[in-house]
Amino acid sequence: INKIGVLTSGGDAPGMNAAIRGVTRYAIEKGLEVTGIIRGYEGLLSHEIMPLNRRSVGAIIHRGGTMLRTARCLEFLEEETQKKAADYIREQEMDALVVIGGDGSMRGAQALSRLGIPTIVIPGTIDNDMGGTEYTVGFDTAVNTVLESVNKIRDTAFSHDRVAVIEVMGRHAGFIALYAGMAAGAEAVLVPEHEVSLEDLCTHLNESHRMKKMSSIVIVAEGAAKGADVVDYIKGHTYLEPTLTVLGYVQRGGSPSAKDAIMASLFAEKAIDSLLAGTYNCVIGQIGERIVATPYTEAERLHFPLDENMYRLVLALGR
Ligand code: ADP
Repeated sequence: INKIGVLTSGGDAPGMNAAIRGVTRYAIEKGLEVTGIIRGYEGLLSHEIMPLNRRSVGAIIHRGGTMLRTARCLEFLEEETQKKAADYIREQEMDALVVIGGDGSMRGAQALSRLGIPTIVIPGTIDNDMGGTEYTVGFDTAVNTVLESVNKIRDTAFSHDRVAVIEVMGRHAGFIALYAGMAAGAEAVLVPEHEVSLEDLCTHLNESHRMKKMSSIVIVAEGAAKGADVVDYIKGHTYLEPTLTVLGYVQRGGSPSAKDAIMASLFAEKAIDSLLAGTYNCVIGQIGERIVATPYTEAERLHFPLDENMYRLVLALGR
């Protein structure tokens, strides 16, 4: 191969820029030409592209968001549209496409690969919920952002003898809630992977209160319950005074943590090495201590579940 394209797609995540930088510079190091595609799959339809050199990806490793912009492109679900994109990729003489994004973006890459375009995916999403990898770029930063916020909220919760309910991102996965909950010493976490019993939660909170615990942190993944409903339920079923914070988009922004900038760079290296070795239609990932490339079809079946022991430990340590 001589020339590759790179794009970011779906929800942005801290570390995407570090991945763009890694892909671009490592590819150039290996003698490849690199084209950046603007706003994800949409750029392949609107023909918005730019050549990337070492300098064009300078001073972005520490920045949140993505310099190539990103988009959710619903048209891309249609095969006719995918064909147009594939034609454009061929026309531009890109021999392969590196896609940085989440599960949806991976399905888009898979669609292009079915049309004969070699693609490779670097996992970039704060949710840590992709097949074929135990880690996605952006997760560590998001957890740290939640932790910082929880620590601030805790200061006032403690002063006022309150239960602080904090809603975090995670529509299908409770990784952010669980990891932030563990790090922040939450009393309970509600995650989509476990059936939510607000009755049990209130029993738990009441018991803690009887044990003279003065303030409690409850972290709720948006996919498990609505924070507002949890607060209403606690109000209706206990004498405690719950407050609600919905963290929202702050979790998606910010400079990547050291871990995310490092993982983005290592994933980028593996992506380019794989393409050069003729291995494509794969998602790059970390499994155990190793960085590997897993074919899409296998990755779909290879989902790493939430750590059940960690879930139990949060509850055990939180009271
Ligand atoms: P993420 O990549 O963060 O999971 P989305 O689910 O929004 O974000 O997916 C990003 C984009 O990937 C979508 O807007 C669409 O362009 C493309 N995409 C998602 N699912 C598919 C699919 N089944 N087939 C083709 N393209 C898809």
